Amino acid sequence: MISRTDAEALDRRDPLAHLREQFLLPDGLIYLDGNSLGALPKAVPGRIQQVVRHEWGQGLIRSWNEARWMELPQRVGAKIAPLIGAAADEVIVTDSTSVNLFKLLAAALALQQRQGRRVILSERSNFPTDLYMAEGARAFLASRPELRYAPADRLVENMTAEVAVLTLTHVDFRTGYRHDLESLTAAAHRNGILTLWDLSHSTGILPIELNRIGADLAVGCGYKYLNGGPGAPAFLYVRRDLQDKLRQPLAGWMGHRDPFAFDPAYAPSGGIARMLCGTPTVLSIVALDAALDLWRDIDLAEVRAKSVALAGLFISAIEAEGLAEIALASPRDPERRGSQVCFRHPDAYAVVQALIAAGVIGDFRTPDIMRFGLAPLYLRYVDVFEAARRLVDILRERRWDRAEFRRRRAVT
Ligand SMILES: *Cc1c(COP(=O)(O)O)cnc(C)c1O
Repeated sequence: MISRTDAEALDRRDPLAHLREQFLLPDGLIYLDGNSLGALPKAVPGRIQQVVRHEWGQGLIRSWNEARWMELPQRVGAKIAPLIGAAADEVIVTDSTSVNLFKLLAAALALQQRQGRRVILSERSNFPTDLYMAEGARAFLASRPELRYAPADRLVENMTAEVAVLTLTHVDFRTGYRHDLESLTAAAHRNGILTLWDLSHSTGILPIELNRIGADLAVGCGYKYLNGGPGAPAFLYVRRDLQDKLRQPLAGWMGHRDPFAFDPAYAPSGGIARMLCGTPTVLSIVALDAALDLWRDIDLAEVRAKSVALAGLFISAIEAEGLAEIALASPRDPERRGSQVCFRHPDAYAVVQALIAAGVIGDFRTPDIMRFGLAPLYLRYVDVFEAARRLVDILRERRWDRAEFRRRRAVT
């Protein structure tokens, strides 16, 4: 069984250990929720302050040109591109993940309708907003597309000639189950289907090779492993050869070929910019931009290797105790997993609350999941070891079994 000394030895050999210094983390807290809201990079507050005081305060409206605010969606998109294996001009930062899903789904459906394809294929366990957006697109579009669900192991047999788009989340938000992005994309393409991947729980945690795989469309989240801050704007990816073929329904003036021509007729910009809608949210994009500077010298293969090792340590430290009431909810095979480890417990909510009271932040996902996100940029092996030890103590002593830990709050 692993000991604290072993964990300390792993930290001494960790090639990413120096990165923890780049974050502002509360003293003594073990943070296992970077998959919901990433920690604060040290570079962010100063950068925001500078933009607010100088670019906004002094530059005022001139900063749209002089501080190049107008290009922020493209510039910051280009910084995300290498993390997902895309070219700089295939990624743009804008809106929320939900809104981007709607735009890309509707655009893909319109394109595929010409081939008589009108089905959106997904799985019922997908992140709810992804399903709501698909349902919204279905109800809204005049072509009345159809929404079809299949379980993960029956997706391929459901890729029939009516299917227009396959939309899935790469890493499942609840269990951490990871789809095989490459083989599902290839199967979709063999059947004439476009793919729309939600990379919210996989960007910045494992290498993704959209170009090599030939993936069509993708969206992802700025505030999880990219550490862009609460409500950070999301990103979207469109493969270059598809960009000028797609028309999205939320065609605002920022996606126009010449916004300041104030032309009453819409004419889409060439390239990825046509996916924009309204004015860039400068302050939020700037926070994400500063957070992304961290990635300049980071090798995602090393991030992935540490993520797998942290998860292995966490699982074995907990399972070594042989507690009957918890069961691993995440796939045991790291190849089938993202960077979160989840356990089921009948009173998962109360256990998570007791753990937070003991200085370890994880979260709860209905109905019975305790979810722990492992962010390798700022977590140490000793943190994960200590978190496992505290969880085991809470379970063994039933310290979660108190009214105060059962009280539900709005955000779980
Ligand atoms: C976090 C997350 C989102 C978030 O969507 P927002 O519109 O940015 O709130 C969407 N999809 C998945 C799979 C997520 O994990």
